[in-house]
Amino acid sequence: MPMSNRLLRIRQHLAEKELDAILISQAENRRYLSGFDGTAGFLLITENKAILATDFRYIEQGKEQAPDYEIFQITGNLEKWLPELTGELGIKRLGFEGEHVTFTIYKQLKELLEKLPAKPQAVAVVGLVESLRVVKEPEEIELIRRAAAIGDGAIAHAQATARPGMTEVELGWEIEKFLREHGSQPVPFEVIVASGPNGALPHHKPSSRVIKSGEPIVLDLGAKVEGYASDITRTIYLGKPDAAFTKVYRTVLDAQRAAMAIIRDGISGNDADSAARDKIKQAGYGEAFGHGLGHGVGLATHEAPRLGPGSNDILRSNMVFTIEPGIYLPGWSGVRIEDLVTLIDGKLEIISKAEK
Ligand code: ZN
Ligand code: ZN
Repeated sequence: MPMSNRLLRIRQHLAEKELDAILISQAENRRYLSGFDGTAGFLLITENKAILATDFRYIEQGKEQAPDYEIFQITGNLEKWLPELTGELGIKRLGFEGEHVTFTIYKQLKELLEKLPAKPQAVAVVGLVESLRVVKEPEEIELIRRAAAIGDGAIAHAQATARPGMTEVELGWEIEKFLREHGSQPVPFEVIVASGPNGALPHHKPSSRVIKSGEPIVLDLGAKVEGYASDITRTIYLGKPDAAFTKVYRTVLDAQRAAMAIIRDGISGNDADSAARDKIKQAGYGEAFGHGLGHGVGLATHEAPRLGPGSNDILRSNMVFTIEPGIYLPGWSGVRIEDLVTLIDGKLEIISKAEK
């Protein structure tokens, strides 16, 4: 991955915001900017320095994964090491990730900066690295495609394996095993198996409920390849679908197709959502689609852009996101269909291939 490009871009933002440095602590942001995928550490980036500060456990890993960075060994809490790290750098305005730093870390940071002779100012920055991550590089899209292909296989495997009499937990484990055996490292989120009435809960966890024929089963799963996630949902039915299921399923599929038909470079997350939501309303299920249409996928399963009511996010070429309308009817069940898509040269391309 071209880290030097990413450093260049973040430095442009530092200059615009008149920051002398930024401290990055959020795991995916840290990985995105450095390549380091350890679970602890900070990046300190200035106009001409890039430092990975991490503890003893990750020193060797850091050297290997983040060759563009100097490695600095952390001991103890912030107060112990940050003054030494920033001492010679002449920082007056230090950015930190406002939405990721805990209150405790913020307090430590503020107190220790006040004690330094230059009294640097701590400046909260929100969504900066996320705004870089939203548009993918070709290498990133390739990894997401690989993760999606594993997800497609897992859907086919679930369709072939699901039997009346199995519990949701058993089917969930079948799916997870398949994902792991086919290269997912590990799974990006807990597999959802929601059968019968559980299908009305969009994020149901697999339970000991026994799956029966003649009811919908919502399967939502993903794989992870070199840090990049995929996300797909299919709703299957054991036996011959009845009229109620067929009507709801067709409505959700129509809604998804309506969104896919209008999504292109330049459209807002709100307008994409409306295209699907209007179809569901017209069919009389307006209240039953209680979540947004989709979300970006990358190093995190849920990231920018957001497709949903009120979202001003503009969909652009090389973004990767889901389109996942659903209808949830408490007491009956639910149907959700989720595909992973990207915009290549402004045009929609569906990444996930599992049958619908
Ligand atoms: Zn999903
Ligand atoms: Zn999703």
